[in-house]
Amino acid sequence: MAKILVYNNDTNRMETYYRGESEAMPYNTGRTLTVREFRGSSKSPTLWTSKRAMQSWNTQRYIWGGPIPVGFAFKRSWEGGHSNQSQHYAGVAFDVAQTWTNARRTALRNSAENSGVWSYVEPVSLTPTWVHFDKRALSSACSSGGFPLVKRGSVGMYTLIAQDDLNTLGYTTRWARWNFWCCY
Ligand SMILES: [Zn+2]
Repeated sequence: MAKILVYNNDTNRMETYYRGESEAMPYNTGRTLTVREFRGSSKSPTLWTSKRAMQSWNTQRYIWGGPIPVGFAFKRSWEGGHSNQSQHYAGVAFDVAQTWTNARRTALRNSAENSGVWSYVEPVSLTPTWVHFDKRALSSACSSGGFPLVKRGSVGMYTLIAQDDLNTLGYTTRWARWNFWCCY
């Protein structure tokens, strides 16, 4: 059983769900993305994503027209992933098709680039053995990459992530929590 926080981009609210590992992710249609697929190897008891990311997945999956094997989507900041720009820490990025042939991956990468639903599709030169696409909400705060800027008054997904990181490092994030919880 996972606790799943979903940032609803339409209402600017965080929503809370509880789902079993073999159940579909919130907002998932056609049961094409289970909690287990979404979390991959992450051990986190709480997962998070955005409604937009789930809708983008639904659309991509519909356009592709068949199953897409998911290696993982979610990672907490310190659980790895393949770069600090990949946004798996936000639960809005997907690494898929690891078990496919290069030709089939190329077809899917082209489909993802042409679908128009993603903010970013990683080029084959960076991820030759899987396809990465994501629905990031904010761009990085500095030109060299990394995390979006979160400051007093910020709400939503990236505030939650900053809070999670700071709490893990032992800091008290009362301001972040207040700003976050005020959205309920
Ligand atoms: Zn990725």
